[in-house]
Amino acid sequence: MPELAPKAEKVFRGIPASAGVCRGTIFVLGRSHATIPRHEITLEQVPGEITRLERALIQTRHDILEVQHKVSTTMGAQEGGIFDAHLLVLEDRTLLDEVLRNIADSKINAEYAFHVVAEKYASALAAIEDDYLRERATDMRDVTSRILNNLLGRREELDLRKLKEPCIVIAHDLNPSVTAQIDKKTVLGFAIDAGGRTSHTAIMARSMRIPAVVGLKNVSNELETGQYALLDGFNGLIIINPTDQTLFEYGQIMRKQVTLEEKLRDVRAKPAITLDGHRVTLSANVEKAADAEEVRANGGEGVGLFRTEFLFINRDILPTEAEQFQAYNEVAERLKPDPVIIRTLDLGGDKFMAHLGQPPEMNPFLGWRAIRYCLQEPAMFRAQLRAILRASIHGNIKMMYPMISGLEELEQANALVETYKAELRAEQIPFNENLEIGVMIEIPSAALVAESLARRVKFFSIGTNDLIQYTLAVDRMNERVAHLYEPTHPAILRLIHATVTAAHNNGIWVGVCGEMASDPEMVPLLLGLGVDELSVASSLVPSIKFLIRRLKLAEARELAEHALKSESSVQIAERCQVLAREIAPSLFENNA
Ligand code: PEP
Ligand code: MG
Repeated sequence: MPELAPKAEKVFRGIPASAGVCRGTIFVLGRSHATIPRHEITLEQVPGEITRLERALIQTRHDILEVQHKVSTTMGAQEGGIFDAHLLVLEDRTLLDEVLRNIADSKINAEYAFHVVAEKYASALAAIEDDYLRERATDMRDVTSRILNNLLGRREELDLRKLKEPCIVIAHDLNPSVTAQIDKKTVLGFAIDAGGRTSHTAIMARSMRIPAVVGLKNVSNELETGQYALLDGFNGLIIINPTDQTLFEYGQIMRKQVTLEEKLRDVRAKPAITLDGHRVTLSANVEKAADAEEVRANGGEGVGLFRTEFLFINRDILPTEAEQFQAYNEVAERLKPDPVIIRTLDLGGDKFMAHLGQPPEMNPFLGWRAIRYCLQEPAMFRAQLRAILRASIHGNIKMMYPMISGLEELEQANALVETYKAELRAEQIPFNENLEIGVMIEIPSAALVAESLARRVKFFSIGTNDLIQYTLAVDRMNERVAHLYEPTHPAILRLIHATVTAAHNNGIWVGVCGEMASDPEMVPLLLGLGVDELSVASSLVPSIKFLIRRLKLAEARELAEHALKSESSVQIAERCQVLAREIAPSLFENNA
């Protein structure tokens, strides 16, 4: 572990996830040892402390065996075997004897004694250049935190709702359900060890306009609650104990940002039209009904992606048809006559299976997710489809299915829609008979059979986040392979090109609602490839519009033509960067 000299500035570099700068005290979430109480005990209390420790050790052993059993039965014996190393920590006589001596000799409480001794061993192991020993340090810290939780009678929780003071949150990982608890009054920004730019946590940070850095690898183990930090979401940095010079430089960056935002304010009400008169539809991605407000305010033309799964998270029971109807209706009413594309449920992957009680999967992104899940859970799908159909007469609603891998899934989903339409007719409940249905193109197989799909739907929306993940076999959540996640990989461009060609051959339009559409460097390339619509986080609509209004379609086409011939993703990325920075330099002033 690198030493933090007191007050010395230290910079940690990760992946920029959400633009903006903030500074404040950090709070390391999910780390119990930051707040271990220390109190002195009398000689008479020593046996009592030792008994408390023994009970906590027995309880911890029980907890670990339970987890091991669960993992072994759901994932396999090999995975369960990982916990053998945890059980060994509980039997480590050297460690335990030293803790007992510490309690008796120093007359201190059991949790503090255990924490001090275990951390001494863990730090020593972590400092050795040996992967095996480093892993033992992680095991030791893991077990220690279980023991401490048992001694302190608390459950390890990641609950952002408990924060009282504004702070920068540091964590190993934040899953989307925890991120959804963020209150901007108490969370100035966050920095996490895990994740990539297109993880749902990063997407949510952008949509909430909270500066965020992901992929910091081990930062949560190296920082302590209470340290002062500056978080730079433009460049993916967290700077501990920033010097006066650093704070001064960031003051200038923040002033530039204010100037840019003023410039962008003017562009909001204007159309997204290129200098040579090509009109682009620029819509917004939303996660809940309340986000509709932001869409108009930022100049979005309706919603290109309503991620409905966010209606299902952080709750114990599923939302009813009536509740969903109300949410869809509210967005459609508020934004009409602009379109609102409601995506049917995309649960699974990194999103919120826990509360529904599904067993963990070995490869959740290749597993029971999205349309696969819905087709096997007809009661749940029925409530959603009926709610969408019923809302469809109240505004300009369209619907699309996520994760379509081929024709059969589309046909099965459409058959269910027809069944529920018939039900509603029989119940004399009105709906739009001509509700337009599209599909997301986010699995390579769908792009490769795009011609067949295009003949049966009204539009395509390319989900580049998953399309890249599945084409390049790069987990979008895994910071260790984030460098391989390349939107400009020639294979990706060929799939987008094939999708656009199939769509246009069949007279339908094609949009992009993945994060590639909100990257100003990628926008000319997408438009050059023939994409008709872009859907981005509301907060990013002004900057993308600003860029489109400085672009000529002719130069975008030239870029795309060159890119389709190129064999190198790096070269394509460089050309994209040069063009975007040339036409809209002010968008990039805060990037390193
Ligand atoms: C995508 O995959 O690009 C997409 C928009 O869907 P999500 O990010 O919700 O998986
Ligand atoms: Mg997706």
